[in-house]
Amino acid sequence: MARVVVVGAGLAGLACALEATTAGHHVVVLERSARIGGRGSTQNFDGFPLGFGPHLFCKKGPFHDLVRKLSRVKLNSSPIQLHRVEVLNHGIVRPVDNVKASIIAKKMLQEGDMNERIVRGANFLSSWNTSLTSERYTALQKNKLLVSNEGWSGMVGRMAAALDEVGVFIECGLKVEKIQTGKVHLADGREIETDVIVLACGPAAARKFVRGMDEEKARDIFSPLQRTTASFIEVGLDSKSLAGRQAVVDVDNQLAILDYRAIQPRLGLEGSHLSAVAVGGLESDPGETRFASQEERLAALSAFMDQRASGWKEHIVQHSEQAKITILDAGEYRVPQQAFAANGVLFAGSWVESEHRLADAAVDTGRAAGRSVSSARD
Ligand SMILES: Cc1cc2nc3c(=O)[nH]c(=O)nc-3n(C[C@H](O)[C@H](O)[C@H](O)COP(=O)(O)OP(=O)(O)OC[C@H]3O[C@@H](n4cnc5c(N)ncnc54)[C@H](O)[C@@H]3O)c2cc1C
Repeated sequence: MARVVVVGAGLAGLACALEATTAGHHVVVLERSARIGGRGSTQNFDGFPLGFGPHLFCKKGPFHDLVRKLSRVKLNSSPIQLHRVEVLNHGIVRPVDNVKASIIAKKMLQEGDMNERIVRGANFLSSWNTSLTSERYTALQKNKLLVSNEGWSGMVGRMAAALDEVGVFIECGLKVEKIQTGKVHLADGREIETDVIVLACGPAAARKFVRGMDEEKARDIFSPLQRTTASFIEVGLDSKSLAGRQAVVDVDNQLAILDYRAIQPRLGLEGSHLSAVAVGGLESDPGETRFASQEERLAALSAFMDQRASGWKEHIVQHSEQAKITILDAGEYRVPQQAFAANGVLFAGSWVESEHRLADAAVDTGRAAGRSVSSARD
């Protein structure tokens, strides 16, 4: 049995803790913020849960698979459906009232030619960036890109409940300041002795932590990472404002608005829960610069909502927004999980090598780190 400290209680950290505990190790999770779930969490505004922008998961992907196995209570989920998705300057992707257009669209989506607007639209909605990520893009076409009846945070809650059941401590409000082989230093001055450290705290913090162990190696493995940021607006409304659509996408400007309640009616039949996102476009993001600042990007998103969800501002019940958040931790290149294993350190997160993307990559690499504890200890 090894002692394991997991830094970060996002999806990667929670998945790692579950796997390492199951393998018989003693696990403690340290989280600097007051909440678990990282970017997958929600804040409760008078009983209305608002998250960090639109989140969809792949049916039977690593995240869904893990959550389904944790509880006997069935997880109900509904797919986003392309006959209720509009791509700006094209129309509904697969219109039910026009069989011919729908068949042509199906074929175009299968062929995946990025010169076609609906292909770019479907790709953006499934993966939040321009490169074709086949797993999620295919899932969208096959009605397998889902919203659950519990929301994303309900799924994270199932992971936390399972950890609680097996007695794993998740310590919130504890920031890790520094690590060295076999020891974790907390911001409050305390130290924790451990055999293995799993860094599931995002690439910036992970890089800072391993720099002291081998500066050159840290530079080599982290420098090629590219991250993409986003702005989001989440609102609970007392009206239906997307005219029956589940999502509207402006692929030229990388903007999207989703209505969770239109996708998953179990979240509530009245009103709507809009989650809108503007992706990339800042100087620090890969690709073209379209916005002078994050505030300008947020304003463009708000203007898009004025156009497509008209009157939304008059119907707000709850509101949350953020001008800048990392939506994609990595591009094509990702960090090898075991690069610092000889120092007793493993990496987990969507920025770590995996055949999956986004939350599925976070869970996949978290589980892989949990399974690798014994090899990192030796
Ligand atoms: C707007 C938006 C939309 C998205 N849409 C989707 C989607 O549709 N589908 C999908 O699959 N994914 C989506 N994602 C991505 C998904 O949210 C992330 O890939 C996933 O949540 C990453 O999990 P993680 O555990 O790797 O990292 P994080 O969630 O970032 O967790 C890292 C944790 O480490 C903690 N931490 C950091 N430093 C320290 C420290 N020094 N000490 C202690 N703790 C520390 C942080 O507080 C945080 O809780 C989206 C993300 C955003 C922002």
